[in-house]
Amino acid sequence: MLAAAPRIASAIAAAIAPRKALSVSQWADAERYTTSKEGPIEGRWVTDRNPPLREIMDCMSRDSGVHEVCGKLPIQFGKTAVELNALGYTMSHDPCPVIVFLPDDLTKDAWILQKLNPMVENTPSVQRALTTQNSRDSANQRAFKDFAGGQLFVEHGKTATRMALRTAKRILVDEIDKLQASLATGEDPLELIRGRVSAYPSSYQIAYVGSPGIRGVSRMDTIYEESDQREYHVPCPHCGEFQSLTWAGLQWSPGGKECWYACRINGCVIEEAHKTQMIALGHWVPKHPGRRIRGYYLNCLYYPFGLGPRWLELVRMWLDAQGDPAKLQVFVQERLAQAWEDPALRKVKHNLIADRAEPYKLRTAPRGVLEITAGVDVQGNRLVYQVVGWGRGNRSWTLDYDEIFGAPNEDDGSGNLAPVWTMLTDRLNRAIEHELGAQIRVGATAIDMRHCGEDVKAYVRRNLIRRPMAIYGAKANNAPPLGRPKLMDCNWRGQSDKRGIKAYQVGTVEIKHQLYRNLAIDGDAKVVDGEQIEKTADDRIVHFSDELGREFFAGVVSEVFDPKANRFIKRKGGVRNEPLDTWVYARAAAMHPELRLHRRTAAEWAAAEARLGVATPAPAPVAQNIQVAQIPNVPRESTPAPHNAPPQPSRFARRT
Ligand SMILES: [Zn+2]
Repeated sequence: MLAAAPRIASAIAAAIAPRKALSVSQWADAERYTTSKEGPIEGRWVTDRNPPLREIMDCMSRDSGVHEVCGKLPIQFGKTAVELNALGYTMSHDPCPVIVFLPDDLTKDAWILQKLNPMVENTPSVQRALTTQNSRDSANQRAFKDFAGGQLFVEHGKTATRMALRTAKRILVDEIDKLQASLATGEDPLELIRGRVSAYPSSYQIAYVGSPGIRGVSRMDTIYEESDQREYHVPCPHCGEFQSLTWAGLQWSPGGKECWYACRINGCVIEEAHKTQMIALGHWVPKHPGRRIRGYYLNCLYYPFGLGPRWLELVRMWLDAQGDPAKLQVFVQERLAQAWEDPALRKVKHNLIADRAEPYKLRTAPRGVLEITAGVDVQGNRLVYQVVGWGRGNRSWTLDYDEIFGAPNEDDGSGNLAPVWTMLTDRLNRAIEHELGAQIRVGATAIDMRHCGEDVKAYVRRNLIRRPMAIYGAKANNAPPLGRPKLMDCNWRGQSDKRGIKAYQVGTVEIKHQLYRNLAIDGDAKVVDGEQIEKTADDRIVHFSDELGREFFAGVVSEVFDPKANRFIKRKGGVRNEPLDTWVYARAAAMHPELRLHRRTAAEWAAAEARLGVATPAPAPVAQNIQVAQIPNVPRESTPAPHNAPPQPSRFARRT
């Protein structure tokens, strides 16, 4: 009895003593068990099996001093383990309000069922921390769990309004680029997320984990760019030099039968068998030490054995993806964990296009122009129009771009048009001076009826300008640039209204592709006597005046094509896309059945010249363009090429 007293005393002392502060990885090593639902490795969690994850997870430890951490990881690398370990740590060891963001409702439900609930079920300390039966009951899909000292909310991006509701001290963001895509309102996900921790200005912690999306749109990319950009350096097993593993360093024999890694410093041949040991001896190295955000980047060469595909399998996937943009995109994003950049769009940066702007005045037609059309975008508070001149070889010149402010549906009760339409009529009916003396008028105008459709129809019906066309964007990606006109208005008997107008479907995706392709071609060098030189204005297809503002040029390239989603999406930065849309509509107008400028023969263009009394220069043949094939995101000079010779062990190799 007496002997028991010290034991009881020490038990009480242990119970009331402050808990030793653990890091997330220490906590996980002590407490976590993984099941087959979570990943291929079952049993006790061992951080040493995947050493690069240690530092990423430990950024979410209470005393890490890190507020934001970004883990740009390939799929299958352990993204979920990072999330679950940080979450279990929060629930059982360092309680506070915590939110997990998943892209949409489907991924959210699956994550709760397949990841969160098994973690809770198999981690006794987390079980003990839960305060209610509902929270303990793992068979439900509840997105809320109450635990001693905090709450867990699991949310998704489909409802942006809900995202602004709760505040938390810790936030885990899964796949922010997919989350952004599911935000219906086009809001900035980073603002929404960062706004949620405002109640904890000195202690908040946010982790973003996942793979990047499209270059120019990807937030993952933005966050990593702003971070201290850590890469994982490993020692060469032969010469001992530390280096990060890059895809460009992987080499393979013809057909991908064998592969090895070429040591960057001494060219030593590194076999995959060395991988585990190299990674165990590795460490993270920041490119920009001292930056506020921690950034960690890994690619598929770092997969621990048993987690992802082996090097040889990756080589086969890579070879299989060549020539297939959609497969290549998947490989680049999911295995290399790099943002995808369309090779054609690389050359259509707005600053490059602005640099190519030519010194001609707006509302004057340079000598190549033989016909003119216009495109109009209708917004609730303004009309935006662009006037485009056309010449031989589908060459274009933007001749005017402006906004006319005022509501397009203003009704003063007199049945008169709103003033914006009168002003538009005036601008479009005013002749444009040709450089060679003639005057040209707008031959057709396409007006988007997506907004204020009735007002657009009413305007078109009045026929105040030449060939007014009510248009709407096609839903299908493969729609032709201009569809057959359809009669819009019917009377109550279902018969066509005599006053009815025709509406045209416009294949905007196809026209945007054409424009971006031509802008890319304009950016290529041309070859003269075997030398590459920059193109001059006479060589280009798409022409812009240097009087157009910078916002115009940014607007022209405000969208990027996502081959996986098979559609154009807006770049980040909130640039307005009317310069692009109105150009596309003016192009559609050039295809009006009575104009058909895209099909004009040389004889027809010559007739147009004769009519105007001008002689215009013939365009340079497009065949001179050099098409430089590039592999997206992989620097050309370091693109691994299949070797014809078998691996040559360097003098450092196999010294061990
Ligand atoms: Zn070496």
